[in-house]
Amino acid sequence: MKVLKFGGTSVGTAERMKNVTELVRSRGKNIIVLSAMSGTTNTLVEISDYLYKKNLTGAKETINLLENKYKQTIDELFSSEEYKTEAKKAIAERFDFIRSFNKPVFTLFEEKEILAQGELMSTALLYNYMLEQNMNVVLLPAFEFMRTDKNAEPDTHYIKEKLGTLLKNHPDADFYLTQGYICRNAYGEIDNLQRGGSDYTASLIGAAVKAEEIEIWTDIDGMHNNDPRFVEGTKPVSELHFEEAAELAYFGAKILHPTCVLPAKLNNIPVRLLNTMQPDAAGTLIYNTKSTNKIKAVAAKDNITAIKIKSSRMLLAYGFLRKVFEIFETHRTSIDMIVTSEVGVSVTVDNERNLPAILEDLKKFGTVTIDKDMVIICVVGDLEWQNRGFEAEVVNALKDIPIRMISYGGSNYNISLLVRKQDKIKALNLLSERIFD
Ligand code: ADP
Ligand code: ASP
Ligand code: MG
Repeated sequence: MKVLKFGGTSVGTAERMKNVTELVRSRGKNIIVLSAMSGTTNTLVEISDYLYKKNLTGAKETINLLENKYKQTIDELFSSEEYKTEAKKAIAERFDFIRSFNKPVFTLFEEKEILAQGELMSTALLYNYMLEQNMNVVLLPAFEFMRTDKNAEPDTHYIKEKLGTLLKNHPDADFYLTQGYICRNAYGEIDNLQRGGSDYTASLIGAAVKAEEIEIWTDIDGMHNNDPRFVEGTKPVSELHFEEAAELAYFGAKILHPTCVLPAKLNNIPVRLLNTMQPDAAGTLIYNTKSTNKIKAVAAKDNITAIKIKSSRMLLAYGFLRKVFEIFETHRTSIDMIVTSEVGVSVTVDNERNLPAILEDLKKFGTVTIDKDMVIICVVGDLEWQNRGFEAEVVNALKDIPIRMISYGGSNYNISLLVRKQDKIKALNLLSERIFD
């Protein structure tokens, strides 16, 4: 059995839902994971924002607009009155629920309940449509098996056990359908796996059932060698090692959620990135095999702050780095890049929430300066240190761009460079021109 995950654009209209149904039918007995229809989660965030601000009129108007979109989709999707009525009933229940948040108290808990409605609605529509098409499909409610533990990490034992039981209860189904992104937390409350987290759901399910493969179906034919939103003429990469894919996802390749790689890697389950609009395209295969002597792809991660801590006694004073890292740990902020010299250390963070407190504490150990609005450019491929020339090629491609930090040798798969925000697009294009063309 495989896990097939369809992202927002893949189920974004009635037409797309019909295409997905045909695609799913042709691929046999699998577990299908759906995102919300494209735009829905963003709109649910917007509605929550109005509710936080106690602007009930704004919330109502936005809810009405969203509901109209669903009514139209239902009219276009179903041909029989029976299933049209079923679908309308299911969607009306979801909107009644969203409208029920009209009390003065609105917190993160309520917001999570609202955000969960997108995946509940997309699966309700596809489920009814598959039934209308005489397909023997069973809906597996994610709230019954997808759970996080007290550390907000997936509770893999629970997921495996509960999902196993649900599957065993329906051995004769031809298709299983479930929601991506949504889950319960250790206390049974409604929660989610963070924005874009349906990829994570697919991977966690794949690991739990020891799937043959995890297919991530999206709106592009695989992981491209550069960010197609900023560079023209990018091309799909046919194969990536798990580690390469993890680096690219973490450093900004939006096609894949960064958390998705680990469960697949730990269980050695190949992940395939495929295009719903072009189902025959080869896409990208992510697995455990390394290809040598190639730079494969580039990605960029925005909103980075570089922090430099200079201390004249850094090298002699053992324990200096520990003290520095402890400060970041205390303020629950993770570090992306690190470079050191005899007189200091530079690190980068992508989360400014605790920056003032971090800077305050760091000043006890040295002179602190920061550079905001930076971007990490991550180049991935066979970058083992014995290879000659690859790192030179990368640095040379960027010779006209000021580079704040370079990190190399941390893994066999990547080299990262920190540049200014205003140089990002130029840097990405130069790397494509000089390395891939
Ligand atoms: P989905 O809704 O299916 O989860 P996403 O929008 O999350 O889809 O991811 C697909 C998008 O990722 C593409 O449309 C593309 O713009 C963007 N993207 C960014 N970097 C890359 C890359 N290196 N390769 C392919 N797509 C990328
Ligand atoms: N619907 C959620 C989001 O838009 C999860 C996902 O699409 O993966 O973030
Ligand atoms: Mg996505």
